[in-house]
Amino acid sequence: MSAPSRHYLDTVAALTERKAALAVPISSPHTGAPADVAGHVRAALARLRPELLALSHRIFEHAEEAFRETNSVADIRTLLAAHGIASTGNAYGLATAFEAEIGDPTGPTVAILAEYDALPGIGHGCGHNIIAASAVGAFLALAAVADQLPGRVVLLGTPAEEGGNGKELLARAGAFELVDAAIMVHPFGYDAADHPFIGRRIVRVRYTGVAAHASASPFMGRNALDAVALNYQAVGFLRQHLPPGDRIHGVVLAGGDRPNIVPAFAELEYYLRSPAVETLKDLSNRVEDIARGSALSTGTTVEVQWDPAPYSLPIRFNEPLTARWAVRQAELGRTVLTRAVVPSELAASTDFGNVSARVPAIHPVIRVSPPEISLHTVEFAEYAQGPDGDAAVLDGADGLALTAADFLFDGDLRQAVAADFAAAGGVLDVEGYFS
Ligand SMILES: [Zn+2]
Ligand SMILES: [Zn+2]
Repeated sequence: MSAPSRHYLDTVAALTERKAALAVPISSPHTGAPADVAGHVRAALARLRPELLALSHRIFEHAEEAFRETNSVADIRTLLAAHGIASTGNAYGLATAFEAEIGDPTGPTVAILAEYDALPGIGHGCGHNIIAASAVGAFLALAAVADQLPGRVVLLGTPAEEGGNGKELLARAGAFELVDAAIMVHPFGYDAADHPFIGRRIVRVRYTGVAAHASASPFMGRNALDAVALNYQAVGFLRQHLPPGDRIHGVVLAGGDRPNIVPAFAELEYYLRSPAVETLKDLSNRVEDIARGSALSTGTTVEVQWDPAPYSLPIRFNEPLTARWAVRQAELGRTVLTRAVVPSELAASTDFGNVSARVPAIHPVIRVSPPEISLHTVEFAEYAQGPDGDAAVLDGADGLALTAADFLFDGDLRQAVAADFAAAGGVLDVEGYFS
């Protein structure tokens, strides 16, 4: 085995450090919520501190995987109830989704999203315990000023970010229909406002051929494994001609049973990723052509199954609202960087992208680890339950609460948010986009 060189990562890290030192702080032309409201919210958060950290640690210990986050949800709903707030379980038909609301339902609505699912084998290696506790913290802090709020705050518990795309299921069931802006925060190796999360589709390709004795009568066979091999090679050739941000990664799920039988069935699965919906569509078309061309070449038949789980679209960041997050974090001493500074090559995908294609949205990332620790590792999980994770729970709750308050109190900000969303293309037909 050859050890991968660290040179690229080290170079990117050094460049990022130089750019960060020169970065101009993100500013906002908007005033947001009045200072006394912000003061009350922050005082409430200080009181909530022990409960929020305990919640984060309990969810970390539960480490429940997608759609099975029963104890995590029960803990959150118990804490809400202890503060006199009723919540709805089984929200929008998902057993581990929940919803609660405070404020004035006749005003604008901001939704704060809480994820809480873990990963197989490595528990909270994506730090969703921090996402849940900071969202709950923001909601409870705003509940302390509920009678002053000129609008509504919804806390939406969103299951199954990892692999299940729970937010798309919630969206299809109507969870965002009355929402004017959606906000959440994700732990990371940097504080960044608009770190890209790219779109992702899944495709399964199944080839069916004709089995035959591989030695006695191979000419009577049609080899499904050959189709898979051609497909995998063609995708390899395609890579040279993709835009720099695109990615394809695949595995062979089936490739025959024994060498003396011509494989009559073989199957591949790919993840396709791209930074824009348009290029993701292009990439999908190329991969579909490869799937069909490989069948024609080998005399097999092909079944192409797109999106066995709902796809993730790239996150569309709302600039005026993200700026409010950055300004509020700066008040806590966190310098929020932009994608001009933080390396955007190191990108993954999230179902929050689908939310951001429907309503104005922000998904900043908050630092809990050194930059070289990547998400989905046991090392990241250590940070997610440690002192840096705890600090992110409290600072994340502060940022979400005050960004929500800014949105509800500042009409000029809401207009700018709506204009930015319209300029980015407005509401996208998420369900129909690839059909
Ligand atoms: Zn993750
Ligand atoms: Zn995550």
